[in-house]
Amino acid sequence: MKRNKKKEETHFSLTLTIKFSLIALLGFLLPIPITITISSILYKYDLLNWLTPQLLLIINMIVSFILGSIISFTLTKKQTKRADSMVKVMSKVSNGDYTSKMEVPKKIDNIYYPISVNFNKMVDELNSTVLLQKDFASNFSHEFKTPIMSIKGYAEILLNVPDLDDSIKKEYLQIIVNESRRLSILASSTLLISKLDSIDKFTHKKPVKVDQQIEECVILLDSLLQEKDIKVLLDLQSGMIESEEDILKEVWINLISNAIKYNKESGSIFIKSHIENDKYIVNVSDTGIGIKESELDHIFDRYYQSDSSRISQGNGLGLSIVKRIVDLSNGSIKVKSNLNVGTTFELSFPLIKQD
Ligand code: ADP
Repeated sequence: MKRNKKKEETHFSLTLTIKFSLIALLGFLLPIPITITISSILYKYDLLNWLTPQLLLIINMIVSFILGSIISFTLTKKQTKRADSMVKVMSKVSNGDYTSKMEVPKKIDNIYYPISVNFNKMVDELNSTVLLQKDFASNFSHEFKTPIMSIKGYAEILLNVPDLDDSIKKEYLQIIVNESRRLSILASSTLLISKLDSIDKFTHKKPVKVDQQIEECVILLDSLLQEKDIKVLLDLQSGMIESEEDILKEVWINLISNAIKYNKESGSIFIKSHIENDKYIVNVSDTGIGIKESELDHIFDRYYQSDSSRISQGNGLGLSIVKRIVDLSNGSIKVKSNLNVGTTFELSFPLIKQD
């Protein structure tokens, strides 16, 4: 792909150089035979007898120069006409008009073909990024507004209604605590996703012992597991992959937290890993509520939450964070689910060979 791009760029600059060199050569060479022919005809009919040879040479040179300039100007103008219209489109796009596109030449070997095709592709990309940002901003403000409004509402009741029952006061305070926790998780998830968005590769990659890291995350989530009386069964093959250690941890924490959140009371979680060819494969399965077929395509979208999970205090960012980290670790993630039976996430990463 990269090599093709390089070839395309070299082909473009070479064709352009050849075209303009030819125009310069034509502008230089073409007037000479023209002026010589004209002056020999005029000479033949005794029309130039009154001129001295030196004067004739000077006139020939001046006429050649003028003719050469006209030829070069006309040919260059033809070439730059398309460039002019391209510059106009570029300036529109640079001023934020992402609907403007370049006219693509019909012939594929036209030198302007690759520029216009690539430019139009870039405008499409910009368009989708702008749409994504608009979407992100509206989801983002909605997600933040909901807990803030709820905290404000309950705090106002506590402040303005003096003789509230103690049990109700406690209930409202608990809601305020829960919503503040939700806000804080939302803020850190949003920070993490924007940090992951701003990079196209990890800068502090190193070999990570995945089996060991998964075991540590299970221990970290012990209190949540106990709250719901959920068992975790581990069957992990030792293996190393290349990633950013602290960030990769978020993958396991999010997947295991979801496997707890969407599980039944006293349910189970199975985490298995094995090596297949050059890949390290991890399966995280649960015996939970499962995901509807129609929702499977959306679970990795930002702020996506199924109706059933909206109640369960999520923020819809967990799986999009997981997906981004897996992508940055050159891995892939798949999901399989059966309603009321359970869900399995399968992750695959390039394995680092251990000597
Ligand atoms: P949330 O904060 O809502 O959990 P996620 O991005 O982690 O956000 O997940 C997106 C949606 O995917 C969830 O709202 C839920 O509907 C679904 N989901 C994720 N993991 C599971 C799972 N293990 N079992 C069932 N549904 C899941």
